[in-house]
Amino acid sequence: MRRKTHHGVDHHLMRDMNEIAVLLAIINGGMVSRREITAYTHLTDSTVSHVTRKLLTQNLLEEVDVPQERRGRPEKLLLLRPQAARLMSLVLDVDHFEIGLVDLSGRLSNHQIHPMPPGVAPDDILPTIAAELSILLESEPDPVWGLGISVPGIVNADGILVSSPNLHWSDLPLKERFEETVGVPVMVANEADAAALGEYYFGNGKGSALLIYLSLGVGIGCGIVMEGHLFTGVSGAAGEIGHTTLMLDGPLCPCGRRGCFEALASTRALVEAAHAYPEAEPGLSSREIIARSLEGERWALQAVHNIADYVGQAAVNIVNLFDPDRLILGGPLAQAENYLLWPVERRLETESISHKNRQLTVQMSTFRDQSTIIGSGACVLEQVLQDSSLGRRLININAMAVEEPVHP
Ligand SMILES: [Zn+2]
Repeated sequence: MRRKTHHGVDHHLMRDMNEIAVLLAIINGGMVSRREITAYTHLTDSTVSHVTRKLLTQNLLEEVDVPQERRGRPEKLLLLRPQAARLMSLVLDVDHFEIGLVDLSGRLSNHQIHPMPPGVAPDDILPTIAAELSILLESEPDPVWGLGISVPGIVNADGILVSSPNLHWSDLPLKERFEETVGVPVMVANEADAAALGEYYFGNGKGSALLIYLSLGVGIGCGIVMEGHLFTGVSGAAGEIGHTTLMLDGPLCPCGRRGCFEALASTRALVEAAHAYPEAEPGLSSREIIARSLEGERWALQAVHNIADYVGQAAVNIVNLFDPDRLILGGPLAQAENYLLWPVERRLETESISHKNRQLTVQMSTFRDQSTIIGSGACVLEQVLQDSSLGRRLININAMAVEEPVHP
């Protein structure tokens, strides 16, 4: 039984919090000196020295000698050992599911995409998915810290998929189901939230104080990472920017209201907009329309530009509401690259209130069409780093792996 101080502070937990702070400093910095960790974490030199020694013996970190430019004396820098653990990922989408393994640097391996019948009942597909994940888990020799699942829907703090209009699933205890069948800790997140975490831990969002990831696809939503924490609101529904109104009495949205951002700027809206151009042959997908715009076809450019203008309007609303330092554009519509990025930047420059002293960078997603699967892995890392009891257990798994006898 752990003894608590009169302040109610658990000293074992305190030490774990220090470990988490050091790990976060190293993840954000990439390759850092102990001096830099001290500056980042505001811990004492001796604490940083103690914690890094411990993480080195647990095989989570490695140390490299880098020559110093001025004095020529090598400086010891620390980095996370990417192979120290794997994060298992599952993406549930409308017509397919994806699985894979992500290392601690965000590199994806064993990526598989399996078709899934649209509208399938959970009981008819979840056992198949669990079986595929179990095969993946058994094939991996390195420690697997857990499973991150991303879904196109609203998820509550207990890992229950509250509702997903696109999957037609609701009140589904995904965390519980997969912890039982696969037998590893599970974190479930909305797809935009997962992608936001992927950017924060592994991509363009490293070191951001307030990151917004805008996911633009069949559905539109945003993931918010605020001071290193995913912000999901009281019931898990924060960031539903797709269902804010951009046009009074505009087109009907799948949510039942009119003129939502999603009704005007989803990939579905792009396909419908293309119907208005006689040059566009019928049956083109959003991906094909975007490809035509990149080839310079005038009608496709016009269709993409109209959508990008709505994205710009919504981006102004997001920036006025949150004042972020990073706005990252992702999802299938992001294939339009600069045809999306420039209209958004132009609108922000002319219309956002904080423009004059803004520190905002607008970028395309780092991992393109792998943002969600890599982000699902980042959900596990988030859980490990934010939930210190889980972190302690998993760090012990690594320590056990290191202590295995190496002699024949
Ligand atoms: Zn709506």
